[in-house]
Amino acid sequence: MLEKIDHLGVAVKNLDAVRAFYMEKLMLPCEGEEIVPEQKVRVAFLPVGETTIELLEPTAPDSPVAKFLEQKGEGMHHVAIRVTNIEEALASLKAKGVRLIDEKPRIGAHGAKIAFVHPKESHGVLIELCEKSE
Ligand code: ZN
Repeated sequence: MLEKIDHLGVAVKNLDAVRAFYMEKLMLPCEGEEIVPEQKVRVAFLPVGETTIELLEPTAPDSPVAKFLEQKGEGMHHVAIRVTNIEEALASLKAKGVRLIDEKPRIGAHGAKIAFVHPKESHGVLIELCEKSE
């Protein structure tokens, strides 16, 4: 059911500046960028082997990422785990009494179905489940 680490989400204030660091200093390619209206973020994708670093810049003050930056500053925001069936994964976690931020999947970058597990449950790590049709 859990397949692999799909991506790591990193919250940043200035996506262009941070992307330049990853591209020019770490020599990572950038696969593109996208605005995700539902999450109010601009996202840049930098693949590293089988996984991807996603840089997240808020597009509005009420974006969840803007709130994160206010409280914790820039840095690791979430770990995304790829699942085969997100509805099943959510139902299974709910049955085990795990607190979820999203009881139903939302649409994330690349049209993937995503849902967040409450970070209190995972002791400070925000876990995103994502299902991608490839
Ligand atoms: Zn993500």
